[in-house]
Amino acid sequence: MQQKQIKSGFLTKQGGRWKTWHKRYFVFQDKAILYFKKQKSRSPIGVLPITKSAKVSIANVKTKKKHCFNLEIPGQRIYLLSACSDEDRDDWIQKISVVIKSEVHDKVSMKDFKKVRVIGRGTFGKVYLVQKISNQQFYAMKALQKGKLAETQQIEQTMSERNVLMRTTHPFLVSLHYSFQTEERLYMILDYVDGGELFFHLKKLGTFSEDVVRIYAAEITLALEHLHKMDIVYRDLKPENILIGSDGHLRITDFGLVKMNISKRKDGKTNTFCGTPEYLAPEVLKDEGYGKPVDWWSLGILIYEMLVGLPPFYSENLNLMYQKILTATLKFPPGLSSSARNLISGLLIRDPVKRYGSGKEDSEMIKKHQFFEKIDWEKLFSKQTSAPFKPKVKNVYDTSNFDREFTQENIQESVPEISYMGRDNNAFKGFTFEEDVAGIGGLKKF
Ligand code: AMP
Repeated sequence: MQQKQIKSGFLTKQGGRWKTWHKRYFVFQDKAILYFKKQKSRSPIGVLPITKSAKVSIANVKTKKKHCFNLEIPGQRIYLLSACSDEDRDDWIQKISVVIKSEVHDKVSMKDFKKVRVIGRGTFGKVYLVQKISNQQFYAMKALQKGKLAETQQIEQTMSERNVLMRTTHPFLVSLHYSFQTEERLYMILDYVDGGELFFHLKKLGTFSEDVVRIYAAEITLALEHLHKMDIVYRDLKPENILIGSDGHLRITDFGLVKMNISKRKDGKTNTFCGTPEYLAPEVLKDEGYGKPVDWWSLGILIYEMLVGLPPFYSENLNLMYQKILTATLKFPPGLSSSARNLISGLLIRDPVKRYGSGKEDSEMIKKHQFFEKIDWEKLFSKQTSAPFKPKVKNVYDTSNFDREFTQENIQESVPEISYMGRDNNAFKGFTFEEDVAGIGGLKKF
């Protein structure tokens, strides 16, 4: 049977015992990467099986080669590979991660996890802190009621969310580890980010200093840049969707509003009216169609809110708030540096074409801004930049950084408000990564 080729190309590989570099031709097909001495060689000189215990990451070591990544093959060794460019390296990492995750995905179901506590609630269901019984690892489990998703025509969007999470591996985005479903619900098992929502800390402290905001804004910029490079618009940046770990670094969660393949749409724009009122860009309100610049607008609002304590166009009256977003003059309280004011003003330019970060340059223009002068982007990416504030987390059961409204809730799943029992499950086909989940823990084959 012809095996599906996922990616092929030249990589330079560091030798095992002798640390010499050799250019080889790599072919990634199905669940293994084969490498050949020459592109036209018939027999591979090595095979790297991509199983669920393989690990792939950007290499932080200093070598004479650029664009390096590590690929750990248990039982063999950690391979150091150099790609042709950063984009090529990221593409290898992403494609390998998808296969690793797909391997991990099979054969898990609710019975593999112990619910510890409720930690949040989204529109379609609860979010729990759970522990995987087999390896004692803690994760966040997002449960979504199929009936509610169907009622609000959100099935396609949820499949997008899962597909984005499936494809992304980035230090400042939560990763999806497993996904499965029952007759009534979809489940996503995500990295557990133990310090709670950025919003929770912002509310407690009122504002953050410019040095703190600089690091947070820079981490978010890298996360958005990564999504944009994958042709994804995030569309829902706000403090509630930004989590902070006890290591002090941020992670964006909730991909419920993402829009994929934006550049394949007419003008690279979409029209759906969604997002959170305070963070909506003018082009969304005007229903003009919008693209990646909406995320940079939201970043401008976020930076302002972190520095000032409230979003710039806030009003309790929704219509007035929309009016302000469209026309009000941007005002700054005293005390903000000129570079912070300049960056916010550039991100809040109402014309998306003129807005900082728009056009081909995307994030590069923002990263070069004076406000980020002190940021070493490579160090930041590898989390070598020390975090400005670390939330206190005594141990993994300490959920004091999450709202008590949730953590006091009963962990039992309630009867779904709108049942999906007996309805068409074809719409959710593919949510469970491997079809052979069938039969496990009473799950049906979807
Ligand atoms: P969501 O439905 O994704 O917006 O999640 C609702 C809430 O659950 C969030 O605002 C967070 O407080 C919490 N939450 C979601 N994902 C995670 C996670 N990966 N780690 C910790 N808490 C999370």
